[in-house]
Amino acid sequence: MIRLFYLSQATRGISDGQIQSILESSRRNNLGIGLTGVLVHGGGMFAQILEGPEQAVLRLYLKVVDDSRHGNSSIIHISPADEPMFKNWSMAVIESNPLEFQHIAHLRTHRMKALPAKEFGDTMREFLAMLNA
Ligand code: FAD
Repeated sequence: MIRLFYLSQATRGISDGQIQSILESSRRNNLGIGLTGVLVHGGGMFAQILEGPEQAVLRLYLKVVDDSRHGNSSIIHISPADEPMFKNWSMAVIESNPLEFQHIAHLRTHRMKALPAKEFGDTMREFLAMLNA
């Protein structure tokens, strides 16, 4: 399996209803193809982790990248993974405030070079702990 993490800019004025619709499609589609993950929305941005069989993750990313509800998508991290980080979530949507979002948005600075798996894992764990606090 692989894990892919990308950041993108939400389309201006995206509504709660549109985000709900993304969540509903994701839950309906992801389970059947063995995908899990998390979608974070905050400060006009999306961050999504998709994990599962390589072909399924890449195919879905190609579909999602064309979705007009966001743009400027960039892959921040992609790597083989031994087990899912979000194994209980076909797709969870987390609403985050812009400050919390900054915690993961800084990973964008790694865009042109390899992001060490440990740094990625640590950042995501800290971010989720912050959201749960
Ligand atoms: P449906 O679920 O039947 O489509 C539902 C409705 O969504 C449509 O009626 C339409 O109003 C709207 N819609 C569908 N496609 C688009 C589009 N390209 N642009 C604008 N509106 C559209 N899908 C997943 O399956 N799994 C994911 O994890 C996932 N993550 C996403 C993350 C982000 C940030 C975004 C923006 C989209 C994500 N999507 C995800 C949605 C994906 O891009 C497709 O819209 C969806 O997979 C289509 O599902 P469906 O064929 O079952 O259509």
